Amino acid sequence: MKVLVINCGSSSLKYQLIDSDTKQVLAVGICERIGLEIGVIKHTPAGRDRIENKVKMDNHEVAVSLVLNALTDKEYGVISDLSEIQAVGHRVVHGGEKFASSTVITEEVIQAIEECNDLAPLHNPANLIGIRACMSLMKDVPMVAVFDTAFHQTMPEEAYLYALPTEYYDKYKIRKYGFHGTSHSYVSERMADFCGLDIKNSKIIVCHLGNGASISAVVNGKSIDTSMGFTPLSGLVMGTRSGDIDPSIIEFIAKKENKNLDEIMHLLNKESGVQGMSQVSSDFRDINEAMNNGNEKARIAFNVFVYRVVKYIGGFIASMNGVDAIAFTAGVGENDPKVRYDVCKYLGFLGITIDQEANKLRGEEVMLSTPDSKVKVAVIPTNEELAIARETVAIL
Ligand code: ADP
Repeated sequence: MKVLVINCGSSSLKYQLIDSDTKQVLAVGICERIGLEIGVIKHTPAGRDRIENKVKMDNHEVAVSLVLNALTDKEYGVISDLSEIQAVGHRVVHGGEKFASSTVITEEVIQAIEECNDLAPLHNPANLIGIRACMSLMKDVPMVAVFDTAFHQTMPEEAYLYALPTEYYDKYKIRKYGFHGTSHSYVSERMADFCGLDIKNSKIIVCHLGNGASISAVVNGKSIDTSMGFTPLSGLVMGTRSGDIDPSIIEFIAKKENKNLDEIMHLLNKESGVQGMSQVSSDFRDINEAMNNGNEKARIAFNVFVYRVVKYIGGFIASMNGVDAIAFTAGVGENDPKVRYDVCKYLGFLGITIDQEANKLRGEEVMLSTPDSKVKVAVIPTNEELAIARETVAIL
């Protein structure tokens, strides 16, 4: 089945056309600067050069129609007729407590997603705009919403509740939701397969370490805890996000620096993390280079990042009462041997041993642990678009 996967932001729209049977990506692209004076569509048909067209896109519907034109174009298209697109899978960031799994999109579903807008004000409204644009241009094509939060809806209350007065949960549903769910679900399943484990009888830690980063504890295929919380700001140290901090720091900075809440949230989301600590970059390639050149702040930022990862892994192993396998994924997890090695070094007490040669490999499925290691450790490249396509087919 050919599935169009859409990931819509407020001014951008990413897409992939995927053949879910062969797992082949037929075309991939992005529309940027939607609503601005000059926008651009970048379209890459599989195995061919990228085409870039500067064009004004007044709204997302215009962007979707450009995508459909690109996919069916005589020269650089990949299908001869739109009827070949049999389904559309939409990434939706927040499904609140309403959605514990992906779902076929109907008017009622759209309303329920709208009711979650408060929880993800930057993302959900944009996701909905993309859904509506596709619905109006592909009237008879079934659409499925795949939520970043859904996989974590299996967390027990002791994992998802914050120790606030209960009225805040009752009134506003303030609780841990967790994100990157599509990735954690896909990677934990692949990891079980790759290690010859029965997912229904397994304890797996997934370390999704990208620019945004989160760790999850997956028992028998279900998420029982994760490091991101009410928003994607908490948990690990990230590219530009602080991860966990003492909440009193917010008041302290506000008073000392005369900053308002918006300014402090910006500081925690955009100017902190590895970027803020190193004053070099949010990108681990730059951090590694700076460390190699003796940059002390980069070294400290790297070590704080690794230490936080280790603390979450350790905590989750206790929550799961053991661990069979640990998977590394996403930009840093798939590509940074030093992060993986340093994390595993801390975990030596578990009987984890790493094959140094295997650990040099980047971006492919590879077993890092040696055959005698007590816990299997591997790199499993994430593929959120393929996971969304597969989920879309499964739901339909
Ligand atoms: P996101 O989806 O959250 O934007 P990604 O999963 O794409 O993030 O990860 C992007 C990050 O991966 C980059 O910011 C960089 O830190 C890291 N990365 C990519 N390639 C490498 C590499 N070769 N070595 C180290 N880190 C890398």
